[in-house]
Amino acid sequence: MTNQHSELLSLAAEHAIDYLDGIAERPVAATADTDWLTTLLGGRLPEGPASAADTIDVLNRAASEGGVVASSGPRYFGYIVGGTLPVSIAADWLVSTWDQNNSVFELGPAVATIEQVTAQWLIELFGLPDTTSVGFPTGCAMAHMTALAAARHHVLAQAGWHVERAGLRLAPRVDVVVGAQRHLTVDLALHYLGFGTEPVHVVPVDDQGAMRVDALANVLATCDGPIIVCTQAGDVNSGAVDPLRKICRLVHQHGGWVHVDGALGLWAAANPRLRSLVEGFADADSCASDAHKWLNVPYDCGLVFVAHPQAHRAAMLNVRADYLPGATLGKRDGIEWVPDFSRRARSVPVWAALRTLGRSGVANLIEASCACAGRFAERLAEIPGVEVLNKVVLNQVLVRFGDDDEATNEVIDRLQAGGVCWFGGTTWAALAAMRISVCSWRTSIADVDRCVEEIRAAAEAVLEERRYGAGTWKPVSSHS
Ligand SMILES: *Cc1c(COP(=O)(O)O)cnc(C)c1O
Repeated sequence: MTNQHSELLSLAAEHAIDYLDGIAERPVAATADTDWLTTLLGGRLPEGPASAADTIDVLNRAASEGGVVASSGPRYFGYIVGGTLPVSIAADWLVSTWDQNNSVFELGPAVATIEQVTAQWLIELFGLPDTTSVGFPTGCAMAHMTALAAARHHVLAQAGWHVERAGLRLAPRVDVVVGAQRHLTVDLALHYLGFGTEPVHVVPVDDQGAMRVDALANVLATCDGPIIVCTQAGDVNSGAVDPLRKICRLVHQHGGWVHVDGALGLWAAANPRLRSLVEGFADADSCASDAHKWLNVPYDCGLVFVAHPQAHRAAMLNVRADYLPGATLGKRDGIEWVPDFSRRARSVPVWAALRTLGRSGVANLIEASCACAGRFAERLAEIPGVEVLNKVVLNQVLVRFGDDDEATNEVIDRLQAGGVCWFGGTTWAALAAMRISVCSWRTSIADVDRCVEEIRAAAEAVLEERRYGAGTWKPVSSHS
């Protein structure tokens, strides 16, 4: 029994190392049959103890026999997921091993200190004001919720209403303003917070998906109460960034709060060449982002930054239970900055990434993804019948094949089935498009070039077939 942890952890390490060693060459899409997975992992609740090593081996089979998506591999470009830095995986193992409750300082001085240090490093990395408060929720969705709760507190307090005490039922009406291209999670946060989504003002966007300032000015002219404006830096499809400087100036003239969805775009601020893209974001009142996408830490870690620490804290922990120690200067209590109570020390893998990469390493990671996106756009545009739909400003590329939606959807299906790379679909300006999101440190220019050949072959076959009828198509290379 005494050695059980050493054998089990060694076994898990072995499986993990095998997984990572093979990640570049395994089929990118999951290949396992759902019934097989259910049989392997399911059945009735075991009546009694079983071998722990066997439990770990069964888990490993679920992964090694096709049940996981190689989304942290070099050629996964679907959604926006990000890879994993080895040092952050290793740090994450220690987080589980120590099993610290990151709620109050007293329960884990080392992880509470790491959270404090990481918050400070992120402020430095992004060039935010020193007084910014920082929280580490599960993801950008919960970061929105946290930031918008702080916004709700702040704008209502200015109107003489204490929302945490008095609730929303009789509160002054808040004018919530969003862009037409906002991420779904902004709507989620608004409905969790009791704002609903129906009374929200929606501001039209330009052809790249960025909020139009003239249209925002028209909306603001109709508002007479407290105002919260939700903007974004980095559209999920095009990567477009709202004109944040102008928006902040305008909204602040109306006494409103500006929130930025910076899931993607905030990372541009960590690169000197790209920083001008998000100019003005530091003037915003709050910003949500995450580390599990572009910083390449394992799931999960969201990031929330608030320019008004007092509103941030008031919106989260505004009562302290008798058994909780009082907040002490320099001894951070994580519960003050997020909706969770007991929680994992999710800042530790972020700290490990920042400590290991340093400022220049983060800048290079961001730069490399953008260079790969640029390469995709440049090379794909040369292929007949392929059109790049967006101005590539960040790590996002939108492509369309032929001139009807079916051709594009068929190319996506074939590429996903081919196993070499994975791209998802979307709708852009009412047209079907293939999305390319580059956000893994593992993706190299060579990976891009290999994918371009896969895409070229799929596109040629699909477009040919649609012209002359079905032929025989095969991927350039395939996994046996
Ligand atoms: C992914 C994403 C979110 C949601 O973030 P989670 O970390 O998944 O909660 C919000 N906004 C944008 C632009 C995103 O890309």
